[in-house]
Amino acid sequence: MKESIHEKIQKSIQGKVLSSKEFREFYSVDASSYKIIPKIIVMPKNEKDVINIIKIAKKLKTSVTVRGAGTGLVGSALNDGIILDMKNFDSIKVHKNHITIGPGTVKGNLDRELEEQKKFFPPNPSIGSFCSIGGMLGNNSSGSRSLKYGSTIDNVEEVTFIDGNGKKIILPKNKKIANKITEITNKIDNRKFPTVSHQGIE
Ligand SMILES: Cc1cc2nc3c(=O)[nH]c(=O)nc-3n(C[C@H](O)[C@H](O)[C@H](O)COP(=O)(O)OP(=O)(O)OC[C@H]3O[C@@H](n4cnc5c(N)ncnc54)[C@H](O)[C@@H]3O)c2cc1C
Repeated sequence: MKESIHEKIQKSIQGKVLSSKEFREFYSVDASSYKIIPKIIVMPKNEKDVINIIKIAKKLKTSVTVRGAGTGLVGSALNDGIILDMKNFDSIKVHKNHITIGPGTVKGNLDRELEEQKKFFPPNPSIGSFCSIGGMLGNNSSGSRSLKYGSTIDNVEEVTFIDGNGKKIILPKNKKIANKITEITNKIDNRKFPTVSHQGIE
């Protein structure tokens, strides 16, 4: 009998795979008004799991869509392929002047930890404590403090991600990819966008 995508992924990772009707219904919606039922939901446990899932999805020509807390307003955490729920990636390490944080960390948990040390993470979308760091980065969230401190991207020094081939990339360390991104973004005509960030404020 042909192996299902559920079985194929489950035997290659340490995390959990969910494909019951109830879970697929649950993950078919977010804070937008859209609905798309995914094939399966996977909760990777570690980086190796993410790499294996991407490689299997590529072979099967199935989409992989990452989900944080599902509070996005445009349906970007929805799709009909594999949904990656990153809730196991919730580590927080507070250093002197920066933090190292897992993308599945809920912002409220970070806020609490930083408050104890009289510090704060500036981006503050009015969804408050419920969104995840990965989702904030995906959306480049801003919020009430953005005129002074900018959006999420203005408060990020380094990003580690797994690309569509299952390769680990660290930016801006990886000069080749960093230069490619700069080349693309340099083509954007900023005059076409309203001045809403701190960079436009004298
Ligand atoms: C009531 C309300 C008020 C809001 N107010 C503001 C506001 O004042 N200012 C503002 O800027 N925004 C605001 N937002 C939007 C807010 O920024 C987003 O809801 C939030 O950042 C999404 O986070 P999430 O964890 O829920 O992400 P999700 O909705 O789960 O995902 C959002 C996007 O990020 C991607 N993503 C998530 N995690 C990862 C990851 N680990 N790796 C790669 N991609 C990932 C997803 O694929 C998706 O494309 C508001 C939203 C709501 C519902």
